[in-house]
Amino acid sequence: MIIDGKAMASQVEAETRSRIAKLMEKGIVPGLAAILVGSNPASQMYVRLKHSACARVGLRSENVQLSEDIDEDKLLAKIEELNRRADIHGIMLELPLPKHLDPRKAMMTIAPEKDVDGFHPENMGALLLGAEKLVPCTPKGIIYALEHLGVKLEGAEAVIVGHSNVVGKPLAAMMLNRNATVQVCHVYTKNLVEHTRRGDILVVAAGVPGLIKADMVKPGAYVFDVGINRVGDKTVGDVDFDAVKDIASAITPVPGGVGPLTVSMMLSQVVSATEAQTGHL
Ligand code: NAD
Repeated sequence: MIIDGKAMASQVEAETRSRIAKLMEKGIVPGLAAILVGSNPASQMYVRLKHSACARVGLRSENVQLSEDIDEDKLLAKIEELNRRADIHGIMLELPLPKHLDPRKAMMTIAPEKDVDGFHPENMGALLLGAEKLVPCTPKGIIYALEHLGVKLEGAEAVIVGHSNVVGKPLAAMMLNRNATVQVCHVYTKNLVEHTRRGDILVVAAGVPGLIKADMVKPGAYVFDVGINRVGDKTVGDVDFDAVKDIASAITPVPGGVGPLTVSMMLSQVVSATEAQTGHL
């Protein structure tokens, strides 16, 4: 089975739209501020995607464009200003930042209740303690898809390739919170295949095209390919899709798999943040 991330995302967006309508009836308009420092073309594209996704569901989104050479103090002051604004319920800061700015400091300045990327240490800490609040959107999308497909996480062997703060680490915590047995592999892992072949659920977020071949996958596994790689004029994932689709129970395509799910989780999380801040849970 091919996991249709676009179709699942449309369903999440429909639910999000109706949650927004309920808030609007009470005079509350959820608002997102997306901060972009400088003019990195990939970041510009991601920010554009976020604004158009917000427009699709009727979320108000504001573009906060800051110059490449902005002082750290000015960036932090801008974040604090957004923290104070009652009409802004979610704040996203596009990474990477220019080299002279400390991303950790900036992330820590975002008010935890507005941190819809789920990167603030308070939200990460809550996640690790099993009290998930706002969590990173890609792992949230993968968990949503597994639950939607009726895949039991309790007792499942889950293998994650990639240990980034954005995908691998928070996903491992979310899976542990649901009682899966979790292994996290990375670039220093020896004999990757010995690990990946154990996974009833295999999530790959390495950014290496074709890293996972058919003989590295357990027959019947659920495979989530998070990778987004440009190869020539094509966008491909980290999994050899054509070969792996024949032995997996289910697999996400690239594009059209984890990407749209991630965006839909971002929208849903802005609404959750709004509901929490306005007491309309
Ligand atoms: P990252 O660069 O921060 O981390 C990469 C991880 O992969 C590291 O843990 C590294 O050790 C591991 N790795 C690299 N090469 C490896 C190898 N040969 N064998 C085993 N492990 C290896 O990456 P990230 O930010 O987590 O992103 C990973 C990929 O996922 C990228 O292609 C990125 O574009 C994509 N991504 C997609 C979405 C989405 O919504 N679909 C979201 C986030 C990231």
